[in-house]
Amino acid sequence: MRSGGAFRPSIARETKLTEASVSRILAELRAENLVQETRQQAPYSGGPTARVTLSKDIAIAGIELSNSRLSFGIGDLSGALNYVERLPASPHLDQDEFERIFVESVGTMRGWIDHRGATIRQAALSIPGYGRAAGNPIYPWDMDRLQTFLADTLGGISVTLTNSVIAQAAFHRYSNTTKYPVSGDHLFLFVGHGVAGVIVDESAPVDAFSAFEIGHMVIERNGLPCRCGHKGCIEAYTSLRAISKIIGVADSAVLSRGDSFIETLALDQSVHDTLRERLFMLGLGLGNALNLHPLSSVVVSGWPSLMPAEDRKAIAEGLNESLLGGFHESRLALSFIAPSIGNDPRAALYYAAYCFVRSGGLDAKADPRTALEEIA
Ligand SMILES: [Zn+2]
Repeated sequence: MRSGGAFRPSIARETKLTEASVSRILAELRAENLVQETRQQAPYSGGPTARVTLSKDIAIAGIELSNSRLSFGIGDLSGALNYVERLPASPHLDQDEFERIFVESVGTMRGWIDHRGATIRQAALSIPGYGRAAGNPIYPWDMDRLQTFLADTLGGISVTLTNSVIAQAAFHRYSNTTKYPVSGDHLFLFVGHGVAGVIVDESAPVDAFSAFEIGHMVIERNGLPCRCGHKGCIEAYTSLRAISKIIGVADSAVLSRGDSFIETLALDQSVHDTLRERLFMLGLGLGNALNLHPLSSVVVSGWPSLMPAEDRKAIAEGLNESLLGGFHESRLALSFIAPSIGNDPRAALYYAAYCFVRSGGLDAKADPRTALEEIA
């Protein structure tokens, strides 16, 4: 998934299996149409070999609750999105309303699937704030009811729930379209409608990460109201919704303008100064978060990544005022990657692809004992 394919010798090396075992397993995966192989010249000595890629015939579904909408998408393991439907959803969506919209969208999606004779092998649903032991403060829903509802509505399709920022991390980590700037452990910070991060441990799978709700760190007592009910949260100052008010563009319009929206705006000096101030506040909160969990690298994705480098220095200035020992490039690497604004549910789709691959292409709901007996 990360490299878009691999040659047999490198698969053998990475899995520590013999090339004969790799051949046998690939033959099985090919028989089930889970992988495809094309003859291609390897970029090293040893002549032509087969490049193994994930099959493009596997249909998966990604569903995202983000950007004030509920998005449904069907695509394949390469991340291509072949079907999308997006319905408006209030940021304060309650569970009854969620279920109503969901049922409606599943109906339309089923029509599309049936028309093409496709079978969805894996689905993923990402929700902001999901996964906290004490419940979700953003969407305080009954999780047992949600699980039952999804099982009933999706009629047998295996579905995995995840937090929005983990889906974003999966998108950047496993899509081979974005060049990821760091390779070691780091904090991946996403600044979208919410502001959240995940601590990426390179040796751990993406579903082992837990979300880092930096957006609800209060940085201004009695400050701007936040959707969580508190005042003065980082999110109230730095989220896409907060900055859409400053630049005078509705957040729905920001979404339709896509990744380069800031460049397309002619911002006057006072707007520029306000955005810099918001970046400074983001840096201030980030420094506080890093005091609690020290890391030497941070990757920022979201609207700040679209700001000129000169303006992004405000983040470092904020960090300098809160991070223990101050900010210095030699101790903290700060990098930026282009966000995927308005591309929902692409992140959930990548997460679904990841879940499918991680399960070895087996039906995630299959009883592992039965699977073992079959192998025996
Ligand atoms: Zn808040």
